[in-house]
Amino acid sequence: MTSFGFKFDNTYLQLPKVFYTKLLPAPVPKPEMVILNTPLATDLGLNFSDISTDEQAVLFAGNQMPEEAEPFAQAYAGHQFGHFTMLGDGRAIVWGEHITPTGQRFDLQFKGSGPTPYSRGGDGRAAIGPMLREYIISEAMHALNIPTTRSLAVVTNGGQVYRETPLPGAILTRVASSHIRVGTFQFAALHRDREVIKSLLDYTIKRHSPHIEEKQNKSLSLLKSVIEKQAELIAHWMRVGFVHGVMNTDNMALSGETIDYGPCAFMDAYDPETVFSSIDHMGRYAYANQPAIAQWNLARFAETLLPLLDDDAEKAKEIAEEAINGFGAVYKEKSLSMLRAKVGLFGEQAEDEGLITDLLDWMHRQNADYTNTFLDLTSEAPPKGKLYEGDTFKEWHARWQVRLAKNTEPLESSLSLMRSNNPVVIPRNHKVEQVLDAATNGDLQPLKDFIAALQEPYKNSSYLKPYQSPPKPEETVCQTFCGT
Ligand code: AMP
Ligand code: MG
Repeated sequence: MTSFGFKFDNTYLQLPKVFYTKLLPAPVPKPEMVILNTPLATDLGLNFSDISTDEQAVLFAGNQMPEEAEPFAQAYAGHQFGHFTMLGDGRAIVWGEHITPTGQRFDLQFKGSGPTPYSRGGDGRAAIGPMLREYIISEAMHALNIPTTRSLAVVTNGGQVYRETPLPGAILTRVASSHIRVGTFQFAALHRDREVIKSLLDYTIKRHSPHIEEKQNKSLSLLKSVIEKQAELIAHWMRVGFVHGVMNTDNMALSGETIDYGPCAFMDAYDPETVFSSIDHMGRYAYANQPAIAQWNLARFAETLLPLLDDDAEKAKEIAEEAINGFGAVYKEKSLSMLRAKVGLFGEQAEDEGLITDLLDWMHRQNADYTNTFLDLTSEAPPKGKLYEGDTFKEWHARWQVRLAKNTEPLESSLSLMRSNNPVVIPRNHKVEQVLDAATNGDLQPLKDFIAALQEPYKNSSYLKPYQSPPKPEETVCQTFCGT
């Protein structure tokens, strides 16, 4: 097989053997290409243009792995909806780590590539809809400047998977800074062997935060760094109205990337209680709960580090608690800074938080669309339309003008700050469902057009119109499904 530019350096296999199982993807009968992310391939230093789409399909189905790949499934555990479980890659296989021409290291990973020792009775497979959903949303998140895993390719496997109905089976090739999860640390901690957890700590630091190697308390430095990255990530999600849907500890990556897109979706009308996932009956992972859940997950991470934080168990607990209690302030600062940017505020004034909260409360009461309301504010003239005619909005608008006048920067800078923080287009759930429906029935054009429209979400253009409207009542999609 030609090399395509692959340059593997598979360091994860240097961890103790408990962390993985080497195995090959299960071959599939008749793979067919659905989509290849050529710009991403180019960024990774990969080129598949010399082979036919049939040969590409063989590669991205795992029927023939690149020579230097050393495929394996990862072991991990995790709290799912608050309950601790042993997990692991039940339907995923990491090819290995690819080094890009600029020296960046990425895991390449299949999702839907067949059973593994961690499948727990599952079929190890995935249906086309959820794999394309991950492709669409992860690529949209990347374009929105939000840390995320990426999607390189989707193939159908020629077979069917059986969920509520038979569906075409598919495999996604995912690209991630790593697949180290809070759940990977939870798995390590279960061994009650200092060397096991220490090996994972050292590996994670080397891979994600090499500057920490010199620090005196490395585990505390890693904890603080992960807290910082997660606070930033969640603030971004909130900024664009993203609801992850399954923030289990196994779905939180230490790299700070959004990972494991399941029943995730973007909110249309602003409502802090928004929940999409059909399995989230209690609203545990509702939009407004995401920061608190992130903190809860980080506390589970901190617990795994206790033996390393200090030799004195009481002291270790104190250190962990102090770091975790710090999440709120870190998150608040990042969130406020992103929200200030959404309304074009420079500098910090005492009234900023109240001004922003009042806008959000008004949006909630009016059932206003989150994305489009911020977009309507992103222009010199006051926003037009029925929504903005009431006195409450007019009073808020006047307060906002007074605050804008305190900016140290000219109005043009405010508008450009707003334009780079308020997307003109997001992958609205009803559109996602429409294109997935068409794709599942063999029509890929709406999917490809949609993905193209999501490429530059901060640049307004008339061709984005069909993607900008909130759903009509008959188009509203209230629930999304895990699709495992
Ligand atoms: P997720 O909700 O996709 O994060 O998956 C939670 C866990 O279930 C992970 O350990 C997955 O590997 C596993 N899993 C999900 N779907 C399947 C499947 N079809 N077969 C086997 N394991 C699965
Ligand atoms: Mg997962």
